[in-house]
Amino acid sequence: KYRELIIGESKMEQTFIMIKPDGVQRGLIGEIISRFEKKGFSLKGLKLIRVERPFAEKHYADLSAKPFFSGLVDYIISGPVVAMIWEGKNVVTTGRKIIGATNPAQSEPGTIRGDFAIDIGRNVIHGSDSVESARKEIALWFPEGPVAWQSCAHSWIYDPE
Ligand code: UDP
Ligand code: MG
Repeated sequence: KYRELIIGESKMEQTFIMIKPDGVQRGLIGEIISRFEKKGFSLKGLKLIRVERPFAEKHYADLSAKPFFSGLVDYIISGPVVAMIWEGKNVVTTGRKIIGATNPAQSEPGTIRGDFAIDIGRNVIHGSDSVESARKEIALWFPEGPVAWQSCAHSWIYDPE
């Protein structure tokens, strides 16, 4: 497949990143995209989309038994979100580091939640927590699949093979 052919790198991964409605309303789209872009990750999918309750419930299905579930779904459907696919070596784990701890009270300064959020229920951004979750979330949000392209900066970001 295209991705394997051009990259041929076992640690190359994709993750699903979503700017939540508060991040969109607060004008943080550019800032957040910029952090992933400047790190060297590649944007492989991007859309501004408002989802309905059943879709949000599917995205957060693993949390359906949690007491905060219905409030979480209300939050995610309260306005448009920015859904993205980002690609790069270790992007799932590194993406979670860029985002910071779930509760912004514990997120380090320098992380997105550490810099831009205060409460757990308004924590600005979602990122897949594993390669397997990323695969499921990308399939849910991007049934059309990622956009196939490679940055001309690739060889300036990664070690020679
Ligand atoms: N959340 C919440 N209250 C909680 C825990 C989580 O409102 O006590 C929300 C929060 O927006 C979080 C989302 O539910 O980002 C998903 O929770 P998860 O544990 O998967 O955290 P994440 O993977 O987003 O860091
Ligand atoms: Mg999670």
